[in-house]
Amino acid sequence: MRRKIAAGNWKMNTQIQNGLDLAQAVLEGERPNHVHIIFGVPATHLAHVQAVVRNANQVFCAAQNCHQAESGAYTGEIAASMIAAIGVQYVILGHSERRDYFGENDQLIAKKVKTALANGLHPIYCCGEKLPVREAGTHIALVSEQIEEALFSLSEDDFRKVIIAYEPVWAIGTGVTASPEQAQEMHYTIRQMITGAYGQSVANDTSILYGGSVKGANAAELFAQPDVDGGLVGGAALNASEFLTIINAL
Ligand code: PEP
Repeated sequence: MRRKIAAGNWKMNTQIQNGLDLAQAVLEGERPNHVHIIFGVPATHLAHVQAVVRNANQVFCAAQNCHQAESGAYTGEIAASMIAAIGVQYVILGHSERRDYFGENDQLIAKKVKTALANGLHPIYCCGEKLPVREAGTHIALVSEQIEEALFSLSEDDFRKVIIAYEPVWAIGTGVTASPEQAQEMHYTIRQMITGAYGQSVANDTSILYGGSVKGANAAELFAQPDVDGGLVGGAALNASEFLTIINAL
C-alpha cells in the first residue's frame, strides 16, 4: 500500500540509551496520524526499540541489513528470521554504504530481498547513482538496472511488500540534496518502470522514498513532488526535533 513514510537510518550511531531516548522523543512529539515512521536501528538496538514502538500508532522498527541465507555458519551475520522473530517488520537492503564498503551488488541484494520476503519482512530497497554516473547522464539507466535486477523477478504479491528508496549517492551525508525536480524525474521513472513490469495499480500502490541530505529545511519541497512518498533520512534522523520537522512535512 502506498503510504507517506519517514524512515530514519541511524547507521552505526547511538548507544542504546540515547537511541531509546531518541525513539521516545519522536513518539512523544506532535506528528500527523497518516505518516508511517520507521526507525532503522543498529542490530544491538532492535529488540529494545521494537519494544518501545510495539504499541505505538504507525511507528515501526527496521534492521539495516540481513544475510541472504536462512541460517548457518556466517559468523557475525543476522538472519531475516531472527529479525522477524522479535516482531521487527522492515529491513533496509542495498544501502550504498553496504554496496561500497561491503561489496554488495545487485545479484547479492536480490537474494537478500527474497530471503527477507520469505521471512515476512518488508525490504526497503535502496538504489541510486554516484556522481560520475549522474554527470555522464546515465543515472536513469543505472537505477533502472538496479531495480530490474533486484526486484523485477519477484511475484506481484511480494513486490507489493517492497518500499523503494532512491538515494543518489552524491547526496548521502554530503549536505547536497537532489533538487525536487531531479528527485521527481527519477521517482516518476521508477513508477513508470513498475507500471511496465507489474501494471498501473501496483505502481500506484508502491511507496518510493527519497534519501540524501533530507533535512527539516528541504523536506517540504521534496515531499511536494507527486512521486515522492517520503524520505529515508540519515543524519537528520538522529535529532528528534529535526526528524519531527521532516515527519510533519509529509
Ligand atoms: C542515508 O543514510 O540513507 C542517508 C540518506 O543519509 P543522509 O540523510 O545523512 O544523507
